[in-house]
Amino acid sequence: MVLRVLFRAIIMGPPGSGKGTVSDRIRKSFELKHLSSGDVLRANIKAKTEIGLLMKSCIDQGQLVPDDIITRLILLELRNIEQSPWLLDGFPRTVRQAEALDEAYNIDTVVNLNVPFETIKERLTSRWVHLPSGRVYNTSFNPPKIPGLDDVTGEPLSQRNDDTPETVSKRLHAYKTQTEPVLEYYRSKGVLETFTGTETNKIWPHVHAFLSGKLGSGNHKAAGSV
Ligand code: ATP
Ligand code: MG
Repeated sequence: MVLRVLFRAIIMGPPGSGKGTVSDRIRKSFELKHLSSGDVLRANIKAKTEIGLLMKSCIDQGQLVPDDIITRLILLELRNIEQSPWLLDGFPRTVRQAEALDEAYNIDTVVNLNVPFETIKERLTSRWVHLPSGRVYNTSFNPPKIPGLDDVTGEPLSQRNDDTPETVSKRLHAYKTQTEPVLEYYRSKGVLETFTGTETNKIWPHVHAFLSGKLGSGNHKAAGSV
């Protein structure tokens, strides 16, 4: 029997640090499945599932949803992709979530996007998303080809309910108090890799080089298969 060890990565960073954009680029460059906890929650809200309805007010108020609910949801989703290497985005956000994840999977690396809070506040209010696909644009550094429209489908873009200034402040507060300890948790395990900067386009080449080193060339997507 051949025992295959699959690459397990996490991407972390404050809200609006570019996790969605960088994850998308990682997904296009490497053979990895990408799972975003925010996308899973928004899909539940859109489908009006019981969990979605319960979680909506938490999310709209910029609070974290309860640990046990999000942990169950994410571990279930991970079961579906456990035959592939994966990249997890938005989970874990508390030390309890990180501990629960550790019981199920061995984490190889944590990519931490370290972007100053001032940059983030400004950025979140200029963020636009294509809701059906989760594609993220930013009017200042990653604009759509045609203003207000998705590059792939041509459908209209929208702003997230939780991107209002007060909610953004609450999300940053939740990040400081609940999620920063998770960085410490992974640092002490020796798997944290921090990338600092104010521009995604400048951080990205470093993330790409780092992951190329970790994954080796065998895991690169063939040119043109994006
Ligand atoms: P960005 O997408 O820019 O990184 P974000 O990280 O704040 O912003 P999402 O990851 O999309 O946003 O999550 C949106 C909301 O969903 C969070 O503000 C929180 O309410 C909830 N949420 C997502 N993941 C978790 C989690 N692991 N634990 C608790 N709540 C979560
Ligand atoms: Mg996100």
